[in-house]
Amino acid sequence: MTAPALDRTSTAELYDAHVMKNYARAPLTLVRGRGAQVWDDAGNCYLDFTSGIAVSALGHCHPHWVASVQRQAGELIHISNLFRNPNQGELARRLVGYAGPGRVFFCNSGAEANEALIKLARLHGVEKSGGEEGRCYKIICAKNAFHGRTFGGMSATPQEKIQKGFRPLVPGFSFGELNNVQSFADLVDEQTAAIFVETIQGEGGINPCTPEFLVGLRRLCDQHNLLLLLDEVQCGIGRTGRFFSYEHAGVTPDAIGMAKGLGGGFPIGAVWVHERHAELFHPGNHGTTFGGTPLACAAALAVLDVIERDGLLEKVRCNSAGWAAELRRLAVDFPAQVLGVRGQGFLVGVQLSSDPAPYLAALRERGLLAPSAGGQVVRLLPPLNVSPDELAQSVEIFRAVLAAKA
Ligand SMILES: *Cc1c(COP(=O)(O)O)cnc(C)c1O
Repeated sequence: MTAPALDRTSTAELYDAHVMKNYARAPLTLVRGRGAQVWDDAGNCYLDFTSGIAVSALGHCHPHWVASVQRQAGELIHISNLFRNPNQGELARRLVGYAGPGRVFFCNSGAEANEALIKLARLHGVEKSGGEEGRCYKIICAKNAFHGRTFGGMSATPQEKIQKGFRPLVPGFSFGELNNVQSFADLVDEQTAAIFVETIQGEGGINPCTPEFLVGLRRLCDQHNLLLLLDEVQCGIGRTGRFFSYEHAGVTPDAIGMAKGLGGGFPIGAVWVHERHAELFHPGNHGTTFGGTPLACAAALAVLDVIERDGLLEKVRCNSAGWAAELRRLAVDFPAQVLGVRGQGFLVGVQLSSDPAPYLAALRERGLLAPSAGGQVVRLLPPLNVSPDELAQSVEIFRAVLAAKA
């Protein structure tokens, strides 16, 4: 037997030839990661404040996460939801501990979690209209929102670049102004079933709901028997220094969508539903083959273990305060380029006065990886366990880029 010929085609060539062209990708091939650092195929090291878009909550290859996933992979990986597995039960218990009395449904992504929230709203609408299907089905979302790329998610995402080419969309969605309760109240009619917002808009440019706004939406939902659905896919799982970012406002939602940081890099999504509404899903009316596998739940349990054991919520609150202050100084020192800094904890947006693309490239050249967000924003999403040194380094790099471009 002869060994297969060594394939010398570069990764860039393989992508050019064979990978779907639906992403704008940085010209970088990453091969290894540890904590907040990643290395490319030429051996260059970067500070990774992308975290796989707010996914790698513990950084890359955290030893406890790796050991848990390795152990579980050798034990039992997938069984479907035709049977119980201990990890899913335990993970549900832990999430209920954070969210409150209720039940958890597991899926595989943020879009799928949100799809379940939209379906929950439909079921609530049927109950609200006395069992008449299709009479009460409308959902009010926020302008500039992002809820995912499925038909339900896209329909809740009022952005031309996301909806264009895919119409007709799912009917029944309308859009209020973020942080303007009256604009949501004006959209409520007898066919409305739910209000659905991101607690902090991520893709839209790091736009937080104010606590007063969330309290106002809660009151509006109570007045009209609507579900308050919160998309915590990006802002949840500790990123803002509370497990869920709505905790800062002291409201209780009717249901929560989560994903991204939950698996620390392993795909998993989840929906928590308040016990008041937890019976709306029943055997047969929703499901997914891969939801809550022993392996995915082991990954998520490892993330929660480290968040709890290492006091990461406290650390995020502590370490982000000085960092945010340093970032706000950039707006003071470079007012022509930096218009402001928004966000909370390690979900931060630096508002630029021009297209962020050249800035992202310059940051990358100096060793900092970060994604953009809508409205000319550079997003900074370090892992929750990033060190104060690494945070300081990120500000230094950002400052050097601004100075070079000033
Ligand atoms: C990323 C994101 C989604 C979609 O999650 P996927 O896992 O990409 O499907 C939905 N909502 C918000 C707020 C997100 O940030």
